[in-house]
Amino acid sequence: MPDQGAERRVSLKAGRFTESVIREMTRLANRHGAINLAQGFPNFPAPHFIKVAAHRAIDAEFNQYAITWGSPRLREAIAEKYARHYGWEVDPEREITVCCGATESMISSILALIDPAEQVAVFEPFYENYGPDTVIAGAVPVFVPLDAQRAWAFDYASIETRIREAASRGGLRALILNTPNNPTGRVFSDQELESIAELARRHGFYVITDEIYEHITYDGHRHRPIALLPGMRDRTVTISGLSKTFSVTGWRLGYVIAPADLTGAIRKVHDFLTVGAPAPLQEAAAAALRIGADYYQNLAENYRRRRDLLLAILEDAGFKTWTPHGAYYIMADISQLTDETDVEFVKRLIREQGVAAVPGSSFFSRPELGRQLVRFTFCKTEALLEEVGRRLRKGLSR
Ligand code: PLP
Repeated sequence: MPDQGAERRVSLKAGRFTESVIREMTRLANRHGAINLAQGFPNFPAPHFIKVAAHRAIDAEFNQYAITWGSPRLREAIAEKYARHYGWEVDPEREITVCCGATESMISSILALIDPAEQVAVFEPFYENYGPDTVIAGAVPVFVPLDAQRAWAFDYASIETRIREAASRGGLRALILNTPNNPTGRVFSDQELESIAELARRHGFYVITDEIYEHITYDGHRHRPIALLPGMRDRTVTISGLSKTFSVTGWRLGYVIAPADLTGAIRKVHDFLTVGAPAPLQEAAAAALRIGADYYQNLAENYRRRRDLLLAILEDAGFKTWTPHGAYYIMADISQLTDETDVEFVKRLIREQGVAAVPGSSFFSRPELGRQLVRFTFCKTEALLEEVGRRLRKGLSR
């Protein structure tokens, strides 16, 4: 008899991470009819112009595989967008890869650039995908803390120490930089970007960015791609996408901008992972990216209003909050409200108040670091956020 136990085991890699906590909270929210402020997807319609462009593209028979690394029209539109917004000349033929979301852009880039056992620095708390991404690539994450006491700034000395320690183990290969940041809402300052760039040049590591919230910033904070800093174009892999800017998270459209030699490797990995992003939606995205500056201003202004509304609701309910300067999440401290852990608290919030959030521990390498934190998203209509306010007024303390 063959040994059934041995045949039916799953890979060690798959055993090393759990299902997304955000999806678990979403299921629990659905079961209890709770308002879902856990998962970052808008509950309002995508802009009319992008939907019309998608219908047109399907009718015009853009229904077969696009070129694996992206439709020429979309790559051209991405290059134009970077020239317009950042004065950055990107070569659409050699430096852009269109992927299935920033999600696939990140894993394709990591698999293309990092070998097993190589070290990758990740700021902590982090967007929960980066953990499994490094596991899938067999890479070793090196966590660099962001400091809650200093509004989630990072401490230069602590990053230097981590890099020095990594050097003694063979060197750091890359650093993942997510700005504007999920979950903290921090927009890294020019000075922070300059110090990361200086370290990258000195120690010779790549910076792989996640700039998916580049157009969602508040209070005069502006996103600045680190690739534009002196000496950084050659060592930066810039990732962004359409999900958040155009409220089309289900379209699965993102892209990677990288120097031509790195792009060659990223395109190969991307091809064998997914072949390509949805062809008609790429055509619609090409049209959408040509939208004028007003669109981006309105996007950020609408989110600022929702941010202010949810901040006031959470403060009234007894949370301590950090005001986000970008992205659409609020990190909140629950220690004044309860002795429960983050997970117990969120489960009670879902059951009793009918509001779902994400337990803070899911953003940390060691769960105890996030036990007093929860994250709420405000990418919802003001009417729904007001309903959250009514529900939280029922009282939360325990
Ligand atoms: N990166 C960050 C920081 C995110 O918060 C999200 C979605 O929540 C993503 C990437 C996913 O982007 P995409 O839909 O383009 O895969």
